Amino acid sequence: MRSHYCGQLNETQVDQTVTLCGWVHRRRDHGGVIFLDMRDRDGIAQVVVDPDTAEAFANADRARGEYVLRIVGRIRLRPEGTQNPNMPTGMIEVLAKEVEVLNTAATPPFQLDEHGKVGEEVRLKHRYIDLRRPEMIEKLRLRSRISHSVRAFLEGQGFLDIETPILTRATPEGARDYLVPSRTHPGSFFALPQSPQLFKQLLMVSGFDRYYQIAKCFRDEDLRADRQPEFTQIDIEASFVEEEDIMAITETMVRQLFQEVLDVELPEFPRMPYADAMSRFGSDKPDLRIPLELTDVDDLMKDVDFKVFSGPANADEGRVAALKVKGGASLSRKEIDDYTRFVGIYGARGLAWIKVNERAKGLEGLQSPIVKFMEGVVEQLLDRVGAEDGDIIFFGADKARIVNEALGALRVRLGEDLDLYTADWAPLWVIDFPMFEEDGSARLQALHHPFTAPSCDVETLKSQPASALSRAYDMVLNGTELGGGSIRIHDLSMQQSVLEVLGIGEAEAREKFGFLLDALQYGAPPHGGLAFGLDRLVMLMSGAKTIREVIAFPKTQSAACLLTEAPGEVSAEQLRELNIRLRPKAKGEAAGE
Ligand code: ASP
Repeated sequence: MRSHYCGQLNETQVDQTVTLCGWVHRRRDHGGVIFLDMRDRDGIAQVVVDPDTAEAFANADRARGEYVLRIVGRIRLRPEGTQNPNMPTGMIEVLAKEVEVLNTAATPPFQLDEHGKVGEEVRLKHRYIDLRRPEMIEKLRLRSRISHSVRAFLEGQGFLDIETPILTRATPEGARDYLVPSRTHPGSFFALPQSPQLFKQLLMVSGFDRYYQIAKCFRDEDLRADRQPEFTQIDIEASFVEEEDIMAITETMVRQLFQEVLDVELPEFPRMPYADAMSRFGSDKPDLRIPLELTDVDDLMKDVDFKVFSGPANADEGRVAALKVKGGASLSRKEIDDYTRFVGIYGARGLAWIKVNERAKGLEGLQSPIVKFMEGVVEQLLDRVGAEDGDIIFFGADKARIVNEALGALRVRLGEDLDLYTADWAPLWVIDFPMFEEDGSARLQALHHPFTAPSCDVETLKSQPASALSRAYDMVLNGTELGGGSIRIHDLSMQQSVLEVLGIGEAEAREKFGFLLDALQYGAPPHGGLAFGLDRLVMLMSGAKTIREVIAFPKTQSAACLLTEAPGEVSAEQLRELNIRLRPKAKGEAAGE
């Protein structure tokens, strides 16, 4: 039906006759001449309809915003003075010969260029209209280019695209499963995959050697910021590899991707052990664009007459750390109060600070509610953090976990508020993760997942599990974890030992992933892999603020789809077929609780 997209027109095509199909973006009546801004996924072109072409004019006259039109017309240069250099098609216009109304449109719930005036809910409810906005089209186009580039790279490297099941058993990635009742097996449920982890490992046992998949994953997580219950991974696995191989392949892939799609040459990817990342940045995904670091000051604070500091400084699990911000002495009381509230979100009970007004004046030159307790150590402290006039030093003192989370988050927030960024892109690899973490109970949890290989042997793992490191690696970019993976366990006795340390007994292990344990007996090769979060990657590359902006039909923070109104109730008939009886709702209980 069409010869050109609107956005493809330019002054080299003057006098050509073209056929456009698209939507009326704007319609203006200029004393007998009608101007239509016609829009399609490629852009906008101005169409002029004059009364001489009577039928075309009548149709243009009845067209309204978002009507679907087909236009046949001749391209001509816009008259001098009416050109619009800010618009890609701004030098030309199309003089219409034919205007056909392909469909009418009701008044849309919001004007595309006024989308900011309506809440995100309205945009999500009418997502098909929201997706007409050029910014949204641009993001989805970028997404398509990114997945195309990734596929082309991996195919070129001999990776095979293999699909794995969506109706399956639980795969342990640490979140809650989405369950699907089985009609043919009453009382039994499928789980939607949290990742293709176990299947990709089975493919390695089969000998497929190099696998990838752009895979949907499902995790029923609590409403944490910017997560989606279903999201997309670029999932990769290979056999006969070590950490270096997977890291090299995926680093090259990401480098090429940035080069191809954004024309950006990423800098070196430094490697940082997890322990360093936590101690220097309070985070296992440090944003290295921000030149602020945490400094340990426990040793200085052990004997100060200030329990808030001396307590954690002397406790095994405690930490006292300082965060110096160059030039930060100009922060106002109100700003500091805001930051104090902010770190409170992460469990910090306060935010101590020292402003360094004039170092030469000694204590006199410092301004701080706490410095009086530190007289004996203050010079050492200032030297250690390299304080200069005009700086502020913030402190965190608590359990190490709280200090890391609070100061880690404050560091990122200060970077943003004070625009401290020193680079556009700062990638790195975080390595040497602990195998396990404590989950508050006596039980250990796998930090990555239970199939990650430890860097030690079975005996060491069993005798000192808390200090065992894993062969896992995360790729981090600008403070976001782009992807994570590991070398896997391919040896049955090691797998059993890890499950044992996790407190997963033999019966439970058999019940949950007996099929993997079986497969490990039949010649499992050494293997490893990694999975990237495609949504986050696209978000970073497109500069979007949330992953919802780079997903065509996202869910809300409460895991619902406003467009289709999913999840929805089902008929009594369907429930009966599934052998499910719903518990009557208790009084005052909301649906879904
Ligand atoms: N399956 C892991 C995840 O989804 C990634 C991997 O280890 O390859 O986090």
